[in-house]
Amino acid sequence: MSAKPRVAIHKFASCSGCQLAFVNMGAELIELTKLVDIAHMAEVGHVLSEDEDMDIAFVEGSITTPHDVERLKKIREHSRFLITMGACATSGGIQALRNNADTAEWMRSVYAKPEFIHSLSSSGAIANYVKVDFELWGCPVSVRQMLAAVRAFLFGVTPPNLREKVCQECKRRGNNCILVTQGAACMGPVTRTGCGALCPSFGAPCYTCYGPAENINVGSFGRRLMGLGLSQEQVLRKFASINNAAPAFSDAAKLFCSEPWMEE
Ligand code: SF4
Ligand code: SF4
Repeated sequence: MSAKPRVAIHKFASCSGCQLAFVNMGAELIELTKLVDIAHMAEVGHVLSEDEDMDIAFVEGSITTPHDVERLKKIREHSRFLITMGACATSGGIQALRNNADTAEWMRSVYAKPEFIHSLSSSGAIANYVKVDFELWGCPVSVRQMLAAVRAFLFGVTPPNLREKVCQECKRRGNNCILVTQGAACMGPVTRTGCGALCPSFGAPCYTCYGPAENINVGSFGRRLMGLGLSQEQVLRKFASINNAAPAFSDAAKLFCSEPWMEE
């Protein structure tokens, strides 16, 4: 048996993009395998049962079925630390948009035999079901943050929980603000940091994949977006996106759903 700490990467309802980001990390992956034993990761063919004891369990994906709940509880029971990996696991993901509709109705319209489908009525974040030791946001997750989390837990410390806004990272990189100079509907002022301000650095607006930042004023920012020419519905859709079920963004979506919110 390996003397190195054991790491598992588990998948629930997700596109596997976070796992692919992990596999694609390149030379750093070799460095990581010197520190830990990647004991379970079905994506690359290492498959163990959820009953195996692990030092760190990364969990990708949201919880959508009763079977998912059972699996997750087993994983939690057998893991020293459990870390969510990406937007699906941390806030419920894009698939949580279905929480605003009637799941039974959806199943009837999609499946010929809906009675064979065992689905929960919502797509839920991992923290809705078990204790989570640390959350990694992003869609996909940042491998740099993932490695930092592994190192921190191996040294017995909790990784820093960075919640500042993408704008702060963007400014540190010396970018011209595309919201101010081009009127682009960039969501950096309400989105948490972690991506390195990737999209704005290439002239593309931020689209909330790291979830809500600290101390945000969604009403005021939505008013700013409407001042750029977006309709109330377009503002709503900006928040009802990848992290739509994160409380600050779902509150924002509800705010801009209410009629009429702003006439001017
Ligand atoms: S967070 Fe994004 S990239 Fe990761 S599994 Fe979910 S949808 Fe895919
Ligand atoms: S481009 Fe976007 S992220 Fe960068 S400073 Fe402007 S609003 Fe913020």
